Parts: sequence; structure tokens; C-alpha cells
Amino acid sequence: MTPVFPGTPSADGRPATLGVMGGGQLGRMFVHAAQRLGYNTAVLDADPQSPAGRVSHHHIQADYTDAAGLKQLASLCDAVTTEFENVPAASLSALAATLPVAPSAACVAMAQNRIEEKAHFTACAGVSGVNVAPYAVIETLEQLQAVPTELLPGILKTARMGYDGKGQVRVKNAAELAAAWADLKSVACVLEKLMPLKAECSVIVARGFDGSVVSFAPQRNVHVDGILAVTHAYPSNMPVAQSNRARAATESIARHIDYVGVLCVEFFMVDDGSEHGGLIVNEMAPRPHNSGHYTMDACDVSQFELQVHAMAGLPLPQPRQHSPAIMLNLLGDVWFDAQGKARTPDWQAVLALPGTHLHLYGKLDARPGRKMGHLNITGADVAAVKAVARQAADVLGLPGLDD
Ligand code: ADP
Ligand code: MG
Repeated sequence: MTPVFPGTPSADGRPATLGVMGGGQLGRMFVHAAQRLGYNTAVLDADPQSPAGRVSHHHIQADYTDAAGLKQLASLCDAVTTEFENVPAASLSALAATLPVAPSAACVAMAQNRIEEKAHFTACAGVSGVNVAPYAVIETLEQLQAVPTELLPGILKTARMGYDGKGQVRVKNAAELAAAWADLKSVACVLEKLMPLKAECSVIVARGFDGSVVSFAPQRNVHVDGILAVTHAYPSNMPVAQSNRARAATESIARHIDYVGVLCVEFFMVDDGSEHGGLIVNEMAPRPHNSGHYTMDACDVSQFELQVHAMAGLPLPQPRQHSPAIMLNLLGDVWFDAQGKARTPDWQAVLALPGTHLHLYGKLDARPGRKMGHLNITGADVAAVKAVARQAADVLGLPGLDD
């Protein structure tokens, strides 16, 4: 594609403009990155208070499938990306008829469906060397009844629309499985074997229209109640061999589907009796990812800058991490005390700690479990970062900081 350079108006005098489908916090951080390079931005999201819409040059308040809204977005923009995983693929296809869209509708559709996603990972396993957890597809009663007992205990996951542990039920036996599937309204699901997790990690890659690929080193993630709580980003966060394998696997997963844009792939590190354990590929997100937020303060190029570069056809520089980092997710719970009374978190104490970088998403009401912001902690060495992270977690009452 012809690069869209910032600050270069189109033939009709319109400023170079990048668009995003979805107005959540990922869209907001994309908008900030695009604006810093000098682009105008447009956000499509029905919510008048959407975090990205409120900081963008243009905010089209329309549903993802609204034809007039999509037309307006296409007329304002030189290229469009997505921040919301469940944007209907048909809407991205419609936009792609008139302007570059990255990632493509086909790649987004694959990431929206665990059945297709697992088939893709399995097809890549020969090259990537990393397989999925044992699983079965459950779309019919016959498939439910034919589930092999080796998959139990397991986790039943809806094929579509799951996120942050939603749409998942842990089941111990066939009776629980049948009940759980009925509770999920018998929609298409996968049953995954429950794996003995040692740890979890993720890798973020960016791939350009020209096929060039760059990636960040894997980060180790800690989830609490199915939601990301902590990301550890420094070289000693996991064994080197695992790290290299996860990174190479992610790059091959992106190449295999001619992916363009930023892609995050999540992995499990499991106890398979070997020294460092085995690696299993879990799922992918066709966009920047919560586990990559540390790149905003610890790397010379962030995941959002790479998203801008990829969609605009700019070169993709290999990012360099200049500081070890820990990211602490700030859920709405932090805005309540132990008695459930609303409070303002003690930012005074947190911001006095060296190397803390606060990112709040501009959401007006805090609710337990709602992603309100994150705190990046950087420092000269890992020990210093860990010490400050411990202090910040204590001040804010944050869970998940294991060591
Ligand atoms: P989501 O879309 O909600 O992120 P995931 O498939 O990533 O869904 O599952 C959420 C979390 O649940 C994972 O990060 C992991 O901690 C746990 N989990 C998911 N699948 C398994 C599994 N097969 N075995 C053990 N733990 C799992
Ligand atoms: Mg996940």
C-alpha cells in the first residue's frame, strides 16, 4: 500500500486521518499515539462517553453495523484499524472496499471464533512447534456425548464473545459438562482440558503490508479471577528457551494468515515433567493487548505506535526495551475500600514512588472488575522495579504480585 504520511493532506485538503473501530481504552491509547505522530483521528463507537471518542478529532456515534456510520468513517479516513475484538467482520469488509483496513476482516473473524482459531494454531504447529491444549468442539448433542473422558476436568468455553474469563465454565465430569453447556444455551463451544499451568505469557508482534515483522520479547502475565492483574516484562521473567519459542511461534502464526497490524498471542507454560515445562498456545487478539501496556513506558516504540505504523504503511522499527517493567492493572475495585465504600485511590502516595507511570482511561464510573487504568513501573534494574511494584500494590490493595 502507499504510505499515509502524517501531516500530508489528501487531494481534497483533508488532513491525513486514521480511524479505529471501537472506542475503549485500547482505542484511546491508539488515538494518542496517532495524534502524537501528527495524524487526525476518527473513532466509531455508539457510546457518547467512550474513552477514545472523547479524545479523538472525530467521534462517529453509531453501531458497528450502521451503514451510514461506516460510510462516514470511510469518507473521513485514509486507513482504518480495530481495537474491539468483536467488530463484525462484515463491517471491516465493507470498509476495505474503499480504504486499507488492518487487520483484515478474515483475520479478525478468525480471532473471534475459538474453533477457527484453534484450527489455525494446529495448522501452524508444524512450523511453530507449539500446539494447543487437547480440546473438543461441541456444537451438537452428539459431540457433547462423544467427549473423551481424558478432556476432563476441563474448561468449557463459548466459541464466540468470550473475554476476561467470561463465557467459561470449569467442569469436573460429564454431568457438569452437560449442565454447563445447557447453561450456555447450547451455543457452539470448545471443551479444553484443564492444564497444570506453571505460568502464562504473551507475545506481541506487528506485521506490515510488506510482510515485515517485528516483535516484543514475551511478557509473563498473572491473572486473578480470569482478568489480567500483573505483567512482568524483563529478561529473567521466563526461561530463555521458552521465550524464544513463544516469540518465533507468534511470528509464524501472524505470517501464516498474512496478518497486518498488531497481534497478541497468549501462551500457557505447563508442567510436563521437563525442566522448564512445555509451551501451549491459548488464544490470539487481533489488536494491541493489555499485557503490552508496559511498552508505553519501557520501550522506545510502544505497541500502539506500531499499530499506527502498520496500518499507515510506515516502516516497522524493531522495538527496544530500555527498562525492566512491571504493569499493574487498575480495576474498578481500587475505587472502593474493604467495606465497599467509594474512595479515591491514594495517587499522592503512588505517584511519589520512583518510576511509576499512571495511565487512566477517562472512564467516569468505577465498577468492580472494570478496567479503569494501569500503572507501569520502570527502573534501572529488576530488583528496584519489583520493590516499587510491591509498594504500589500495597498502597492500592492490588492482587496478583507473586514475587
Ligand atoms: P479469555 O478470552 O477470557 O482471556 P482464556 O482462554 O485466555 O479466555 O482464559 C482465561 C484464563 O483462564 C487464562 O488466562 C488461564 O488463566 C485460564 N485458562 C484458560 N484455559 C485454560 C486451560 N485449558 N487450563 C488451565 N487454565 C486455563
Ligand atoms: Mg485470554
